[in-house]
Amino acid sequence: MTPSTIYGLKRVIVVVVPLDVEMIERLKQIVGAENVLVGESLDEKYARDEALAVKPCMPEVVVKPQTTEEIAEILRLANEKRIPVTPRGGGTGLSGGCVTSSGGILLSLERMNRILEIDEENHVAVVEAGVTLSELFKAVEAHGLCYPIYPGEASATVGGNVATNAGGMMAIKYGVTRHFVLGLEAVLPTGEVIKTGGKYGKVSSGYDLTQLIVGSEGTLAVITKVILKLVPKQKAKITLFAAFRNLKNCVKTVPLLLKSGVTPLIVEFMDKLGLFGMENYTGIRVPINEPVREEAEAFLLIVLEGENQEQVYKNAEVVGDICMESGAMEVFVPSTERAQRELLELREKSFYAARDSGATFLVDVVVPRSEIPKFMEYVKEVSAKYSTVITGTGHAGDGNIHLAILEPDRNKLSSILKEIYLFGKALGGAISAEHGIGMEKRELFLELEDHVKIELMRRIKKAFDPNNILNPGKIF
Ligand SMILES: Cc1cc2nc3c(=O)[nH]c(=O)nc-3n(C[C@H](O)[C@H](O)[C@H](O)COP(=O)(O)OP(=O)(O)OC[C@H]3O[C@@H](n4cnc5c(N)ncnc54)[C@H](O)[C@@H]3O)c2cc1C
Repeated sequence: MTPSTIYGLKRVIVVVVPLDVEMIERLKQIVGAENVLVGESLDEKYARDEALAVKPCMPEVVVKPQTTEEIAEILRLANEKRIPVTPRGGGTGLSGGCVTSSGGILLSLERMNRILEIDEENHVAVVEAGVTLSELFKAVEAHGLCYPIYPGEASATVGGNVATNAGGMMAIKYGVTRHFVLGLEAVLPTGEVIKTGGKYGKVSSGYDLTQLIVGSEGTLAVITKVILKLVPKQKAKITLFAAFRNLKNCVKTVPLLLKSGVTPLIVEFMDKLGLFGMENYTGIRVPINEPVREEAEAFLLIVLEGENQEQVYKNAEVVGDICMESGAMEVFVPSTERAQRELLELREKSFYAARDSGATFLVDVVVPRSEIPKFMEYVKEVSAKYSTVITGTGHAGDGNIHLAILEPDRNKLSSILKEIYLFGKALGGAISAEHGIGMEKRELFLELEDHVKIELMRRIKKAFDPNNILNPGKIF
């Protein structure tokens, strides 16, 4: 590594000591030689995540610890030698958060993958940070319980979810990751280990360090263990699909649904271009009547869950009526469970469909849900002004819009993003709802966010990480 500046706190210049043979040897002593990858043994997957606009960057070394003590030792060493450390979970992030920005150590949590406890009495799971969502879902289901946060990609880890405060489709009913994190074990960049929270939901004992670390994108501490809240598993589900002539009618359905007393599990919207892209990518064709397919501009995918089939069918009738009253052209429930699952699969593949069709950026803006039509109208104007293609899908229930922008010209893309972010903020929204700032949104975040808040965040960062070794170049 060339000695260089790492992205500094208030542009403080930090001289980084290159990783020499002695340092690699010390890392091997800590975690075992087979868990230190350098040179030819480095795998290309460690150079990237899933962000569309972040260039891959190979770390100098990948280190795969298995215990909190090993992580503490690695961080103490890195802090002493001023070596950047980038935590990595499943690498499914959408903002370049786990891509190294200034060489150093990529700290992969993949071997910290034990489910330590499923506590049926307290409805709690205690897991290591490298446990994947698919492993967690399986384990809690066996106890008749459920971890109801599903941010789209089951190979993501719990640690990554906590670090990004991941959201996903079920946020309308259950909230986001932070609402299910009761406590943490984490290693500070200085090597000290802290335990926060516990198997309880109520606490008023000083600053809430658990919630400060949630969403900190690996810049404040390395999360090693997580205490998660669980809920009883619901036994029945039903999926509805509704087609609307315009987005306004489509979106105004959501508050009516919520007011009706039926709390949907999922309410996703998609525009026509978005839907067609997903159909092309997956080969799944939504069985809408042909004339409706021609005319409809916006669609809602709604999933309901309940104790039994009778209850969900009853609620589906209520939802169907509300959709029709607010102007739906057609509402249907696929006749088989498989066809219902396929609809969800179609929506889950929206990111890959967008990437496949040439998207160069995925926007993750959030606005108050009532402002979605105004926001999408503005996006149409921006798209026309810059002669570019922008498709929209999103979590309609919580105002989180994912726009896929198909614009290869980086200058033009930057202007488009700035206009969209400014408009979203003016509507009372924020730049990122669930993917985080990472590297991808850093520049515009620093430009557009309130500078008093940014300065406060920098001071918090400095209190945790005085030498700016942990995930430098992210957020700031
Ligand atoms: C197809 C697809 C669909 C997606 N849908 C959604 C969605 O609906 N909602 C949503 O919120 N996200 C979504 N995502 C994004 C992604 O899955 C989440 O950001 C996820 O939380 C990342 O987890 P990860 O383990 O892959 O983390 P990584 O990508 O490895 O890392 C993400 C960030 O967390 C930090 N980090 C990771 N582990 C730790 C740790 N143990 N301690 C400290 N910091 C750590 C990293 O440094 C980085 O900053 C989607 C991604 C894909 C590919």
